[in-house]
Amino acid sequence: MAPTNSAQALDGEAIVARLKALAAFTDVPGEMTRLSLSPAHRKAAGQVAEWFRAAGLEQIHMDGTGSIVGRYAADRPDAKTLIIGSHIDTVRNAGIYDGNLGVLVGIAAVEQLHREGRRLPFAVEVVAFADEEGVRFPSTLSSSRALAGTFDPACLDDVDADGMSRRVALRAFGAPVETISACARDPAGTLGYVEVHIEQGPVLDALGLPLGIVTAIAGATRGTVRLEGQAAHSGTMPMPMRQDALTAAAEIILAVERRGSADVAPASLVATVGTLAISGGAVNVVPGDVQFSIDVRSSNDLVRKAAVVDIEREIEEISARRGVTPHLAWGHDAPAAPCNEDLRARLAAAVDRVGVPAHHLPSGAGHDAMVFRGVLPMTMLFVRSQNGSHNPREYASPQDIGLAAKALHGFLVDLAGSNSL
Ligand SMILES: [Zn+2]
Repeated sequence: MAPTNSAQALDGEAIVARLKALAAFTDVPGEMTRLSLSPAHRKAAGQVAEWFRAAGLEQIHMDGTGSIVGRYAADRPDAKTLIIGSHIDTVRNAGIYDGNLGVLVGIAAVEQLHREGRRLPFAVEVVAFADEEGVRFPSTLSSSRALAGTFDPACLDDVDADGMSRRVALRAFGAPVETISACARDPAGTLGYVEVHIEQGPVLDALGLPLGIVTAIAGATRGTVRLEGQAAHSGTMPMPMRQDALTAAAEIILAVERRGSADVAPASLVATVGTLAISGGAVNVVPGDVQFSIDVRSSNDLVRKAAVVDIEREIEEISARRGVTPHLAWGHDAPAAPCNEDLRARLAAAVDRVGVPAHHLPSGAGHDAMVFRGVLPMTMLFVRSQNGSHNPREYASPQDIGLAAKALHGFLVDLAGSNSL
């Protein structure tokens, strides 16, 4: 068995060295672009599998959705399994931390157990998911959904911009597509799911805290609004007689912002208009037709739903007063995914033990972890990130990464001592 005194696996600099090595696998030289199931993703998956082996993980394989999975056996037969996961696909021109960090910290925690010669009363599986960012295909999270038992076979027919289906891309990747249904984990035999991820927002950085414990992944309601007014000549239409769809939109956009700001902490409501299109817009035309999007999120579903109702009412009121006809269509509607209280408390205690105050915060961004809502107990650890995420400037320091790895390792050891297994 390996030496028992080395903590090198949990060293932040060592993990950053691997992050940088992994960043060499990119579809676009000079930037970090590793779209799901691309040739660069395939090479990155091979590298991750090698690190799995070095960490003492066994039964290493690619599952039917392109994820790399490895298992660190328990100290006893018929033990339950704890899953540690995150993703290794990226957005275009990404940073090197989003997703990849969680996989490498998971590897480091297991590698440390391996070096200590320590087996736990549960098996640990590390998973490098293949499909989180949703850039290449219209649907996403297919890899984590396969584990949750909610994989939708229809997503195999999704096509990318080049007309290649996910099914064909998976086969080219080397994934045994026909085995996807066997990926589903038995909740009775699974302790839960843990994910380490950069925060992607500015909260921990603003607070000066390296780590954060996630309370819940926010639920989201998204929709589009079309306002139908009356296009008219900007010189001849008197101001009081206008049915200006754009000024109505402007007033609604401010109302959305106001309602999004009117939350009582700590539900963390946010409401955003992110797109705006003016049909037939011209310098000398009163706008008659405008479309925009609305995105409302909260870690509390009741808070989110109340905001959506209020926003609907504002749209009706403002439209009526301004003589435009609103057409409102809510599309996406996903409930919040709360983190498991017991696992969250254990994670907070582990963070505390590495000398960091345990700050609890919601995740406004979606993650693989959210698909385990109602299926497996789930928890998430955030690492402070400078410059947000989804851009090359995202940054987590080696010191913070080392703390995250030590906290995750401590969490595993603490869970091993729990009598609730
Ligand atoms: Zn991510």
